[in-house]
Amino acid sequence: MKTITVVGGSVAGIRSAEALRRAGFGGRLVLVGDEAHRPYDRPPLSKAFLAGSVDEDAIGLVDDDDEAELALELRLGATASRLDPAGRRVVLADGTEIATDGVVVATGGRARRLPGTEGVEGVHTLRTLDDAVALRRDLRDGSPRVVIVGGGFIGAEVASTCRAMGLTVTVLDGLPLPLAPVLGPRIARSCVDLHAVHGTELRPGTSVSGLATVPSRDGGRRVAGVELGDGTTVAADVVIVGIGIVPNTGWLDGSGLTVDNGVRTDAGMVTDLPNVVAVGDVARWSRGAGARRHEHWTSAGEQAEVAAANLLAGGPGATFRPSGYVWSEQYGRMLQLAGHPSAHDRVEIVDGEVGDGRFVARYLDGEGTTTGVFAMGDPRAFGRFRRSELRRPAAAA
Ligand SMILES: Cc1cc2nc3c(=O)[nH]c(=O)nc-3n(C[C@H](O)[C@H](O)[C@H](O)COP(=O)(O)OP(=O)(O)OC[C@H]3O[C@@H](n4cnc5c(N)ncnc54)[C@H](O)[C@@H]3O)c2cc1C
Repeated sequence: MKTITVVGGSVAGIRSAEALRRAGFGGRLVLVGDEAHRPYDRPPLSKAFLAGSVDEDAIGLVDDDDEAELALELRLGATASRLDPAGRRVVLADGTEIATDGVVVATGGRARRLPGTEGVEGVHTLRTLDDAVALRRDLRDGSPRVVIVGGGFIGAEVASTCRAMGLTVTVLDGLPLPLAPVLGPRIARSCVDLHAVHGTELRPGTSVSGLATVPSRDGGRRVAGVELGDGTTVAADVVIVGIGIVPNTGWLDGSGLTVDNGVRTDAGMVTDLPNVVAVGDVARWSRGAGARRHEHWTSAGEQAEVAAANLLAGGPGATFRPSGYVWSEQYGRMLQLAGHPSAHDRVEIVDGEVGDGRFVARYLDGEGTTTGVFAMGDPRAFGRFRRSELRRPAAAA
């Protein structure tokens, strides 16, 4: 291969470029990213960056030296609008064509929005650096009442950051117990309880029917509250919608790749075309009889390693074996999960106390095998138990 084009300039794209070079690719490496910023990391956007304790310089994924070392041709502020059906040409929105031998699809996802909220001042989603800058500005304007729609990891992190800023925060979630589908009821309860302890009002089992708005200073509309399914309204000056993402696949229309809630790949991240791989939040990879997307930072890097190897080999070989590692930071505590527990697995506390907000738990399946390790507030013990309880699967086989 002489040229490889990576489309998407975030963690999956950068990790792919690094993996390709590590695997010995010495040809032309182009990275196309539609954001104008240099590639940056998203996890701090709901945490330290939103709180204002780090700035843009601190969240970069590559600096000038890395870029030079990778011999990376960065095309920032450039949108890929089409991939030709043989995967040999990436066409940009301005009409530029990049002739290529291999393609890495790393276009991630965009924040899902609540219908009817477009253009309403004070309503935010949080996916990009620009989103975080706009939200930070609104949070610092007086002492706004904050309502967060969605009590998943990002919603909970934003709630925690807003509480640390001294703001009044309400979290609305449709589930009776947020996070339970991912963490199971017992561990989800221990996480969700942090809200009350830190003064956030959580309203589980709540449906949102719309927004209450008032005229804004410039003649538009500004949010004044969130209307609920029971006919009541929660007053709000700032609303953050954290209800998941939609994979960015529109540019692949007509490419011949199978797109179905993400780009379909085999277990080695290879798409229908052997010279096109997909990685990160956009990739929906085969897992046994099913297929799934991982929307987590660590798996983007793990997938990149496998995808790079298979792209250079010209077909499947390496298989993605996810570690299942996910972390979140809420109310000054690190939450960490590794492995692949099912929400129905039995949970055993193996260290610390749930009531102290500092513990390690393991998940056990029906046969008594450890399927996952979770920790709150104790990264060292997490590392210890993870090593002893879970065998880290090889990245490639
Ligand atoms: C606020 C926030 C906090 C998070 N915190 C954590 C955490 O604590 N732990 C954790 O495990 N995960 C966390 N995540 C998730 C993690 O950041 C994502 O899993 C990761 O960013 C996925 O990387 P990606 O490169 O696959 O996709 P993305 O990060 O979505 O990047 C894709 C890039 O491709 C660009 N793009 C899209 N279409 C095109 C196109 N046609 N042409 C050119 N460029 C295009 C996009 O603009 C974007 O820059 C967090 C995410 C957010 C938003």
